[in-house]
Amino acid sequence: PVVTRFAPSPTGYLHIGGARTALFNWLYARGRGGKFLLRIEDTDRERSTPEATEAILKGLTWLGLDWDGEPISQFDRADRHAEVAHQLLSEGKAYKCFATQEEIEAFREAARADGRSTLYRSPWRDADPATHPDAPFVVRVKAPLEGETIIHDQVQGDVRIRNDQLDDMVLLRSDGTPTYMLAVVVDDHDMGITHVIRGDDHLNNAARQMLVYTALGWNVPIWAHIPLIHGPDGKKLSKRHGALGVEEYQLMGYPAAAMRNYLARLGWSHGDDEFFTDSQAQEWFDLKGIGKSPARLDFKKLDHLTGQHMSVADDAALLHELQAYRSAKGEQPFPKPRNDALLTAMPFVKEKAKSFDQIIEKAHFVLVDRPLVPDEKAAKALDDVSRGILRELTPRLQTASWTRTELEDSVAALAQEHGLGLGKVAQPLRAALAGKMASPSVFDMMLVLGRAETLARLADVTD
Ligand code: GLU
Repeated sequence: PVVTRFAPSPTGYLHIGGARTALFNWLYARGRGGKFLLRIEDTDRERSTPEATEAILKGLTWLGLDWDGEPISQFDRADRHAEVAHQLLSEGKAYKCFATQEEIEAFREAARADGRSTLYRSPWRDADPATHPDAPFVVRVKAPLEGETIIHDQVQGDVRIRNDQLDDMVLLRSDGTPTYMLAVVVDDHDMGITHVIRGDDHLNNAARQMLVYTALGWNVPIWAHIPLIHGPDGKKLSKRHGALGVEEYQLMGYPAAAMRNYLARLGWSHGDDEFFTDSQAQEWFDLKGIGKSPARLDFKKLDHLTGQHMSVADDAALLHELQAYRSAKGEQPFPKPRNDALLTAMPFVKEKAKSFDQIIEKAHFVLVDRPLVPDEKAAKALDDVSRGILRELTPRLQTASWTRTELEDSVAALAQEHGLGLGKVAQPLRAALAGKMASPSVFDMMLVLGRAETLARLADVTD
């Protein structure tokens, strides 16, 4: 069974690259009936904060990336990491190194002067334990000195590193705490991780982690190192590109489903498919579809996908998400009658909306109280002639049966009798019903508002 994980360091918000990594791991596991685990890599005590962990969990939750079981704290597993280092010591696959910082520095100086590699080679590697001093030590892995280490990467292909370029890296520090490199390997092994999908900034780490796997005789997980995301200008993503945190996308009013679709397409493709549902993404997602070159952020594409997702979304679910959006922005919830009206209007206002704000704007006609205050354009559309036409429309609407065809027929008949285009009736009607000229169609609005409210709004502008 497939087991993947997302292993963020809790040093800041969930950034867009991390979210994409989490999504890939989630898709891979969910599409294969596997598990998706979460590990908080909080071993760096100075930079890790509970607030960052909170922000990351919140970001994942907003994105809808649910993880299995409780999040695992890497720091909490320090004893287990040390235990593994001691096991390697007892098997002779690691050794105690008593070199001081000064000695290591001196080694490097000399190497530099001689033009040799400055990779540290400890004299304690083959020392007789009987000669060990009673002094602080670190535990180093005994790395192979010759040959090469090969990473079979699912994205990058075979990556070869000459072993003489890898040092005997430290597994346990002199205070007995594990290094990050040891912790990752032990955790991935103990958590039963089968596939590691992560940024290719970790490719070099993979070679070093490989040494630990080899020393321990453990199976190496399948690795897929994905190219980082670049800004729209093709340059490495940085602060100046803006919108780096996932919550910024939430606050811009993008729905999570569109965001998942968009992030999935950042660096992964499935033929020409751009728009897809979660179940399609889970079914289609594979490591073969991950590209080798960096993907670029593209807000136009995100907007376009958003419009498509809004159009097909379930009305009640969309309303729910819209409410969460408003509360994330610190806005008061709509009162119940407004929500009910919004739900009725949803089929007509969600179509192609590029954000929740656009939905709210279009739904303005159900979110305001009579008498409406028309904006400038709407006021213009309500000139004397137009108001006269609306006055004629009123009795017809009093008797028409409240169906789309009859409403359409009433408006069309009136326009025809006056030899006017449909718009000459529809536009003032729109102004009267919505108070502005951007709205759903007048017939949609009439159906949502009902006869009494429609007539009342007409009366407001014609009396
Ligand atoms: N904690 C690392 C990071 O946030 C991820 C390490 C890994 O996935 O192996 O970049």
